[in-house]
Amino acid sequence: MIRPSTTLLLHDKFGRRISDLRISITDRCNYKCVYCRTGNEGALYGDLAFTDYLRMARVLVGMGITKVRLTGGEPLLRKGVVEFVRELSQLRASDGSKDGDPLDIALTTNGHLLAELAQPLKGAGLTRVTVSMDAVDPDRFARITRVPGGYDRVLAGIRAARRAGLWPLKVNCVLMRGFNEDQVIPFGMFAREEGVVVRFIEFMPLEEDRVWSPETVVRLEEILARMAEYRPLVEIPHARSETARRYRFDDGIGEIGIIAPVSHPFCGHCSRIRITCDGKIRTCLFSVWDHDLYAEMRRGASDEEMAEFIRGVVAKKEERHHIGEPDFVPASRTMVHIGG
Ligand code: SF4
Repeated sequence: MIRPSTTLLLHDKFGRRISDLRISITDRCNYKCVYCRTGNEGALYGDLAFTDYLRMARVLVGMGITKVRLTGGEPLLRKGVVEFVRELSQLRASDGSKDGDPLDIALTTNGHLLAELAQPLKGAGLTRVTVSMDAVDPDRFARITRVPGGYDRVLAGIRAARRAGLWPLKVNCVLMRGFNEDQVIPFGMFAREEGVVVRFIEFMPLEEDRVWSPETVVRLEEILARMAEYRPLVEIPHARSETARRYRFDDGIGEIGIIAPVSHPFCGHCSRIRITCDGKIRTCLFSVWDHDLYAEMRRGASDEEMAEFIRGVVAKKEERHHIGEPDFVPASRTMVHIGG
């Protein structure tokens, strides 16, 4: 692999180093969560062959990407995902000063298929997994996902991931007023009992039917106030590019995080770009543009030409989102078609 000199590492015009790549490998999903798939869009864009994603990833790793996260829709619906992780794990990261480090490969899933796949994914080279779960009450879980009987499967998936050694094991809960704001304390207990890191996410306007409003957002301060009714928290220092603010319970048992893009944006240290399931680059969750990397491949672009295309796209990366501002323009895709 060509070692990228530090000057060739991917930076945007604000000087932010781009080191995190998220690849959506499908926009199909077996859940219909109320804060995401509010409409009946279903899968729209279709999936590419894993060899296409692998080539894109290889070129980007050569430009200094050190973390790759697989997303969807629901990525575990894709047959061959374990093999794809194995292929990815052969790539070596380089930050320009040294190379040869294994890539940090993560996956975000709704957990419905995780119990069977946790061990094979770990064996293939997956480092860690994040499970999206929005209630620790089976009935409420069914009401939010609109899929009966999913709760037990997801819990079994979380426990299988722990046994497999996928670590750290995070559980992401999107809080939406009127649906699950009362799940804060139960999730605090869950984090302590199951030994997982529960992260609460402020609801963002990326759902199908545009039902988002500022009132539907349960903000960081309210989450902390609710949890403090249960047990005191101590803030844990965190890296600037980390999206979550981290807290440990006062007795040291259990950790939670809060991802607060609405009330405490973290765009200033954004290190992410995304590839959609149909091979488009998105430089921000809230982009109104897609940049067709797959079309470059199809027209016969070399790796160097792809790298130049990517560099040109990243030079246009948005400075930040404008959620809740008068000039806010909704993203050109909804979350299920971007991949989180
Ligand atoms: S909103 Fe866009 S710029 Fe801000 S952190 Fe998310 S992806 Fe980065």
